[in-house]
Amino acid sequence: MDCYALIGHPVEHSHSPFIHAEFARQTRQALSYRAMLAPLDGFPNAVRMFRAAGGRGANVTVPFKLEAYSLATCLTERAKLAGAVNTLTFTDEAIVGDNTDGIGLVRDLAINLSCPLAARHVLLLGAGGAARGVLFPLLQTRPASLMLANRSIGRARELHAAFAPHVGQTAFAAGGFQDIGGRKFDAVINATSASLANESIPLPDSVFAPDALAYDMMYGAGDTPFMAWARKTGAARIQDGLGMLVEQAAESFALWRGMRPDSAPVLSMLRGKQQASHR
Ligand code: NDP
Repeated sequence: MDCYALIGHPVEHSHSPFIHAEFARQTRQALSYRAMLAPLDGFPNAVRMFRAAGGRGANVTVPFKLEAYSLATCLTERAKLAGAVNTLTFTDEAIVGDNTDGIGLVRDLAINLSCPLAARHVLLLGAGGAARGVLFPLLQTRPASLMLANRSIGRARELHAAFAPHVGQTAFAAGGFQDIGGRKFDAVINATSASLANESIPLPDSVFAPDALAYDMMYGAGDTPFMAWARKTGAARIQDGLGMLVEQAAESFALWRGMRPDSAPVLSMLRGKQQASHR
């Protein structure tokens, strides 16, 4: 049986083993997928041992996405641009590093939420690993404008410089939260970790255009502080990042197995579990 794993620290609450088990059942693939806790100073060793024991591939999560980038002997174009790796594929000769987070977000927006970004005005909050991973796929959807706003303005400007060659016709700007001013956006995507710390982001109340989507990459039992704020401020649609999680997993599965699973029933099962735990 082909073996896959999620390697991270922590990993015990991850939905990924459930998601990949459902994908395998659905596509009748004989494979195993487990969560593997690696010591904080032991990621390369954990990967080597898993590969030596016959592992065929791995997802990588916090805090190892940059180490996975360095460990890969071969990188896809989107992983190079992201500067981080969340999917490793082991071949006889190589450790191939890819990043499926960005395509996961774009597919969740376009397919699950029927919210394509072409010709729309998009605000992306954050300039950490998640923001970096989704920037290129977001620009590829050809929004009319994309503004990147981050607490530390210098990090937003660094990303702006790195991605400026890939903007095409999109008006691309970067700055701090105070630079948002009175602009309105069709989609506001929270790629900061503020919600993890139960913190709010200082955004103007006027940021949402009519019918705008507020999207938090974080997911959990209830509203995040960003989602609660968006609800109060009048965003038409409010969504967490569970769909992104399932879609990035589907993309990894497709890379490994050469077939794309149907993500919709798996997302709906997870939504059911989420609602049950919220009650
Ligand atoms: P990083 O640590 O790399 O980056 C954190 C970012 O959040 C930085 O831009 C930081 O700003 C900003 N930030 C942190 N605290 C605050 C605050 N209180 N107010 C405003 N900004 C803040 O984290 P990641 O980029 O890896 O992850 C970000 C989020 O995305 C997490 O919640 C993670 O769970 C989620 N995620 C979800 C995925 C999914 O599949 N749904 C996939 C990947 C990530 P500064 O630069 O100023 O420090």
